[in-house]
Amino acid sequence: MFKGILIEKDESGYRASVQTLDEAQLPEGNVTVRVSHSTINYKDGLAMTGKGPVVRKFPMVPGIDLVGMVEDSTHPDYRSGDAVVLNGWGVGEGHWGGLAQKARLNGDWLVPLPAAFSPQQAMAIGTAGYTAMLCVLALERHGIKPQDGEILVTGAAGGVGSVAVAVLAKLGYTVVAATGRPQDADYLKALGAVEVVDRALFSSPGKPLGRERWAGAVDVAGSHVLANVCATTKYRGVVTACGLAAGMDFPATVAPFILRGITLVGIDSVMCPRADRLLAWQRLATDLDVAKLGQISREVGLAEAIPLADRLLKGEVRGRVVVDVNR
Ligand code: NAP
Repeated sequence: MFKGILIEKDESGYRASVQTLDEAQLPEGNVTVRVSHSTINYKDGLAMTGKGPVVRKFPMVPGIDLVGMVEDSTHPDYRSGDAVVLNGWGVGEGHWGGLAQKARLNGDWLVPLPAAFSPQQAMAIGTAGYTAMLCVLALERHGIKPQDGEILVTGAAGGVGSVAVAVLAKLGYTVVAATGRPQDADYLKALGAVEVVDRALFSSPGKPLGRERWAGAVDVAGSHVLANVCATTKYRGVVTACGLAAGMDFPATVAPFILRGITLVGIDSVMCPRADRLLAWQRLATDLDVAKLGQISREVGLAEAIPLADRLLKGEVRGRVVVDVNR
């Protein structure tokens, strides 16, 4: 038997609670992992509250991230005792996830825990941090260099945003952080932002083109925010879009694309190929100051994770939340 958060949906409603589960209930898979830590990402918030159609099967153990020790494996790459990390692949959506003491998974989804990180640190990064790194890699791949100018990070005080600010600053980029939380300006400057701007500047419908300012951007918000970021990106600048915290829509014009040659790069972490994941984790090991993970994250137990889901969706949670599933 083991403990986990279970999401149920039936005639009495949609609910998430900590329950005692039986190993016989675990889904199919060729690797069983004794989970030590998981996290709460935006998607986990949607899953636990039911505020977004994330969960595709009920009952479901949420948790799109986990770290732990292999207990049992018939996969050729993994043996009992190996430390592994999982991010995405639909885990916590259609396959039981990481917010439990045990998980049974397809070994192809796992990556070895990088030696640079403790299990807690790997989860302080989690999908949010690994996605931030995918955004940075996309900016690099499209030729954006520190000397090209300012890089805007939206939703900067959230999970993806905090890690993006820290990594970009360490790489020498000039980072401008957009946030709805002016009280977190010192936090964002400590992570490496040179300037903190009010996200309200980007929230309302804007003009097709504005004053050219950003050489690049990491956008977690979508909707008018993404449209305004594109409209103020410099000639041949690059915008990476990974989120929908402000909305799923994209009320933009083609003007920034056809008049300024900007590039909009879509970022997906869930089905991202293994080679790109390994590269992202390898780059996090060199380009993220682990000391900053202490500022970015805090740790809670399984039961505390449930009420935090709603607060995270309301934008009340700063940085990252690590969940110790054995607490
Ligand atoms: P998070 O920790 O909750 O951060 C989201 C941040 O967005 C908030 O902290 C807030 O930052 C900002 N925000 C909230 N509402 C907003 C609004 N109406 N307008 C502008 N900004 C707003 O969530 P996360 O885990 O970092 O995820 C961020 C987004 O990326 C989510 O939409 C998530 O689904 C997406 N995501 C996508 C992938 C992928 O594979 N594509 C992977 C991970 C995450 P401030 O308080 O600083 O303004």
